[in-house]
Order: sequence, then structure tokens, then C-alpha cells
Amino acid sequence: MKIVVVGSVAAGTSAAAKARRNDESARITVYERDHDISYSGCGLPYFVGGEVETIDELTPRDAAWFKARYDVEVRTGHEVTDVDVTTRTVTVRDLATGSTFEDPYDELVLATGVRSVVPPLAGVDLPGVFTVRSPSDARAIRGWIEQRKARRAVVVGAGYIGLEMTEQLTERGIAVTVVEALEHAMPRMDADMSARVDAELRRNDVDLRLATRVSAIEGDHDGVTGVRVGSPEDGETVAADLVIMSVGVRPNLELATQAGVTIGPTHAIAVDRQGRTDVPHVWAVGDVAESFNLITGEPAWVPLGSTANKMGRITGDAITGGTLEHRGILGTSIVRVFDLGVAQTGLTEDQARAAGYDVEVLHNIKPDRPEYLGGKPLVIKAVADRATGRLLGAQAIGASGADKRIDVLATAITYGADVADLFHLDLAYSPTYATTKDPVHYTGMALD
Ligand code: FAD
Repeated sequence: MKIVVVGSVAAGTSAAAKARRNDESARITVYERDHDISYSGCGLPYFVGGEVETIDELTPRDAAWFKARYDVEVRTGHEVTDVDVTTRTVTVRDLATGSTFEDPYDELVLATGVRSVVPPLAGVDLPGVFTVRSPSDARAIRGWIEQRKARRAVVVGAGYIGLEMTEQLTERGIAVTVVEALEHAMPRMDADMSARVDAELRRNDVDLRLATRVSAIEGDHDGVTGVRVGSPEDGETVAADLVIMSVGVRPNLELATQAGVTIGPTHAIAVDRQGRTDVPHVWAVGDVAESFNLITGEPAWVPLGSTANKMGRITGDAITGGTLEHRGILGTSIVRVFDLGVAQTGLTEDQARAAGYDVEVLHNIKPDRPEYLGGKPLVIKAVADRATGRLLGAQAIGASGADKRIDVLATAITYGADVADLFHLDLAYSPTYATTKDPVHYTGMALD
């Protein structure tokens, strides 16, 4: 069997590795148009900030490693430009030489990921305007900061990537303005929770402009000088030596469209629980593919490395005869914003109402461990179905301990827990880590 994988970051390499573990005789080739493979995209902001010293720490594996470890051919600098599902061949361009060749497959895995959305603004192509997606982007940003001795930055978009960049630029001594079109930073969370993130940004001297749009980027061939916010007539220019565009990502669907696979309602590739598309012998994994919400069962697209790895492994298994199936996602995620861990899982209150639930909201603010050992307030907001008591989602924000609590809550939700079940969880306690009744227990006691 010959397996061709397109894309070699999280999902593609996971699929290839699992296929090899299951099947020693398969021929497996991975094409990647970039140079870096299997890297930690999630670590890029920390290289820009200097917390990670060298980019090599984020790109520990190369093609030779995959060959030696898995007998998988990873061909970097090679772009797959066409798919013919009738003859089952891909056309590949060697980006170094410009030459093209065809490669037949028995099974094709699309792991082409996403690209950063770049809004069509005047000046968006100026030197000094960046998106953050790959190690090349991170190298370019850090190089620009160091070469230009950048002092002022504008970050456009206050989702988690924008906020990680904001934190890291601030740590470098750069004054950051964040421009967000919606009412709060972290707009995927409920407003009462994301308002706490707004406050943390301002506490760290970030100039946060909410409900504000960028109308143009200003500068000349030498580089960006500012960002025009508000309307072109009534707005103002925020001075900047550097601009980070972090307004979202979009799946790379070119090959999928060519192959004729169905694109789902979330605008990512529709797949079954093993990653099969509706075109025979074509599979899709990771950020380019749609998942489904574990609670509602509806199609869901939350592009995260955690999910991409899982989807890759499941499909690598399925292609080689395995029975692993994807069980759906809660979109569980966490981001550090200065001194706060900001985490969420499952449905927010707004999403639960939109899904038609009669929602019960449970709120508590408790120290994550005793104050005599440095405990700080941890805010947990959980939402449940009033009719059944079933937990639907949770958000947690605190200086420490948000990670543990969100994972406990995600696990509870995964297994269908209701609110009262939380009190009965046998959770670890020592005053160095928790309180005798944990903040999660208090969430379970909220209806008493
Ligand atoms: P991608 O990483 O997008 O890789 C797809 C690859 O396919 C690319 O390298 C691309 O060059 C290649 N490709 C596309 N088309 C072709 C073609 N035609 N021919 C050849 N190659 C092609 N996730 C988390 O869970 N937690 C985090 O904390 C987190 N932080 C993040 C921080 C940043 C700054 C970024 C950018 C992402 C972060 N993520 C995080 C998201 C995570 O990195 C992605 O979900 C993950 O990388 C998705 O992996 P993927 O393999 O599906 O796609």
C-alpha cells in the first residue's frame, strides 16, 4: 500500500507515524511545501518573546529523523499542486527546481492545515506587518524587532494567538496596542469572563482598543509606521514599528476542492469519525478538517494542535485497518495572559442558549489553594442543562490552577457528568496544590 500525506506539521506526521506503527510494509511519503516539519506552532510566540531561545527547540525533528525512526519519506520544499482522484495520482512541484512530477497513491491524506486570514487593508503588505503561523514567521518577527529595535507594536485581533503575542512583545519591553473589533478580548468566551482578560491586559499597560476596527496600515517601502483605527475620516493613527495580524485562520482547501470532497457547514472538510471524506481513498485530518461537538453532535471546527494530533493518529490507524474513532471535541483550550491562566471547555453560556438549552449558570470564586500558601482567586463559570443537570461547559480564569480544573471539568463533561457529580469526585488535596474542598467541588455544590 502506498500512502501519500500532504502537510507535515501536527496531523500529517501523526497520521504517518501511526500508519507505520500498524503496517510495516506500507510505503509512506509526506509532502511539505515549507522547510520546517512537525514543529510546535504553539511555541512560536515564546521564541519571539525570547522565553524559547532558539527556533531549533521548536523544530526538533527533520526528514532524516522520520526516515530513521519511521521509514517515512518526508519531502520538504515540495508542494502538491493537483490531485486526480480517478487515476489516484498527485502532481508535485519541487519548489527548489520548479520541476514537477506525478506520484500515485492508494490512500491520500490531506493534512494541509490553515493559513492566516489577511484582511484586504491598504498597507497590509508593508514590511513590518506579520502573521504568526510558522517558524519562518517567528524568525522574521524576531529578526525585525531586533534589527529595527522596535518599541511599539499593534496587534490586530485579541484571540489567543494575538494575546500570546501581546504578552511576549510586552515582556520584550515593547509597548503594545491591541485592536479588537468585538466587545472583549478572547471573544470566544462569555463576556463576563473575557472582561477579566481585558482587565489583565490593561493592568499590564496594554493599550486595549475594543469594538474598534483597523481601516488601513500606514508606512512606506522602509516599513510600517502606524495603524489607522476607526473610520478613515474620524479615526486616529496609532504609531507602530511592527504590526501583528491575528484575526483568524482559514482552511487550505485548494486540494480538497480539486478532489471534489464535500466541504462541511463550518467551511472545513467534512469527514466521518475516522477521517474519511466522501471521495474514496481521500482522507482529511487536523485543522483542515471538520470535527463534531461532543455535546451537541453538530459539526464543529476549532483548529487546535491537540485535536490535530488526535485526528492524525485516528486516520493513520483507520487507513491501516484499525478501529480507532474520533469521539468529538469540546474545544478545550488554555492560554496564559500575563499572570492569568484563561481556559475553557465545552459550550459557553451563549453557545448553550443558542443550542436551545435552558441554561443553569454556576459561578464560584475560590482560592486555588489556601491563602497561607499563596492561593489566589480562581474563577470558575460552568453551564449546565437545567432540565437534566448535565454539565455543558466551563470556563476558568486564575493566577494558578486553571489548567487542572479545566481538565477535570472537560473529563467530567466527556463522560456525561451532571453538576452534582462534581462534588463526589475524589480529587487530590494537599495545601500546596488545592483546598480540601476543591474549586471544582464548589461548582458541584452550587445548586445545594
Ligand atoms: P498545519 O500546522 O497548518 O500544517 C499544515 C501544513 O501543510 C503546513 O506546513 C503547510 O505548509 C502544508 N501544506 C499545505 N498545503 C500544502 C500543499 N499543497 N503541498 C504541500 N504542503 C502543504 N493549538 C493548541 O492546541 N494549543 C496551543 O496553545 C496552540 N497555540 C498556537 C500558537 C500559534 C502561534 C499557532 C500558529 C498555532 C497554535 N495552535 C495551538 C494551533 C496548532 O498549531 C494547530 O492546530 C496545528 O498546527 C494544526 O496542525 P495541522 O497539521 O492540522 O496543520
